[in-house]
Amino acid sequence: MSVMKSFLVDQNGYYGEFGGAYIPEILHKCVEELRVTYKEVMCSEAFRKEYGQLLRDYAGRPSPLYPAKRLSGKYGCKIYLKREDLNHTGSHKINNAIGQILLARHMGKKRIIAETGAGQHGVATATVCALMGVECIVYMGKTDVERQHVNVEKMKMLGATVTPVTSGNMTLKDATNEAIRDWCCHPADTFYVIGSTVGPHPYPDMVSKLQSVISEEIKVQLMEQEGREYPDWLVACVGGGSNAAGTIYHYIDDMRVRIALAEAGGKGVDSGMTAATIQLGQTGIIHGARTYVIQNEDGQIEEPYSISAGLDYPGIGPMHANLAARKRATVLPINDDEAIAAAYELTKLEGIIPALESAHAIGALKKLSFKPEDVVVLTVSGRGDKDIETYLDL
Ligand SMILES: *Cc1c(COP(=O)(O)O)cnc(C)c1O
Repeated sequence: MSVMKSFLVDQNGYYGEFGGAYIPEILHKCVEELRVTYKEVMCSEAFRKEYGQLLRDYAGRPSPLYPAKRLSGKYGCKIYLKREDLNHTGSHKINNAIGQILLARHMGKKRIIAETGAGQHGVATATVCALMGVECIVYMGKTDVERQHVNVEKMKMLGATVTPVTSGNMTLKDATNEAIRDWCCHPADTFYVIGSTVGPHPYPDMVSKLQSVISEEIKVQLMEQEGREYPDWLVACVGGGSNAAGTIYHYIDDMRVRIALAEAGGKGVDSGMTAATIQLGQTGIIHGARTYVIQNEDGQIEEPYSISAGLDYPGIGPMHANLAARKRATVLPINDDEAIAAAYELTKLEGIIPALESAHAIGALKKLSFKPEDVVVLTVSGRGDKDIETYLDL
């Protein structure tokens, strides 16, 4: 262990050759302020206490670790589901939103901005802003505003201002650019809440630490149920990578634990309609970090596609790029049809309707081979209520 380099972030904000902070000069002060502050605040007694209480009493943690008997029977191993779908607002995103908005308060920032694609991160952020009584502005591509009407209405009811973005393809990438632009204009009073393990350092590390409560709980829950605190396999889906980062955080350097990550294959990795960033991406810069990006020969970022809005991102967190490059993780592209079939399978076998994103993780089970005694922990990142129309349309 001592000679092995950790898979966690290094002192300079890198995961191997990935990560860093590639930002315009005007943002330098904001990012630097966050970099020198986040660890100290997050380690403080006051923050830990407040964060822990809100996770418990508001978000509903710990989320159960459920032994899925019928699913286990089907795959010939022992599968536990980490039930992030049971959190308030329906996914793991609330863990991060509570943490970052608490941090913003400790830093004296009065205005919260966020980007959102499908609207899940926007809703989580607007929820916590309502709870804490702070101003909230959510940037959302105009295409997504139209596609995700219910989430837009929720954010408005929660008191947030939803600003439709009309540049580019009017989706997540464009909303992120607009949020960054806002941050540049209001560096003194504004905190930018990023929804995944992406963006310039320290965001990927900060978000993975906030989500690491997932693997902290898995350790305790496995000890209770299995008499050992580590599984043989961890399985999670990856969009930007935050639910996966939380799931693996406390096991990342434990080589007894194998890691499988499911990314969105869309209509197929070679179809031109995909978000399989790790399979197809080349090293580049996206939203302030050096990582794998789906881009054309000129280095232009290509528009990604997935049936699942939460996985529809042309980049990937730098932590995950490094895990893939160093073969620490097995990365499996799961196509739309495979994810849909997996969602039906989980629903019929266990009575759990998963989010489309989470269904990609279920879909990965078929592509892995297990021994009967293997203990597998799969994170169900969110619930499927938001996806019912998609499921029924097919
Ligand atoms: C946003 C979202 C994801 C993808 O984001 P990560 O940062 O990769 O976790 C996955 N599942 C659900 C339910 C989501 O809302």
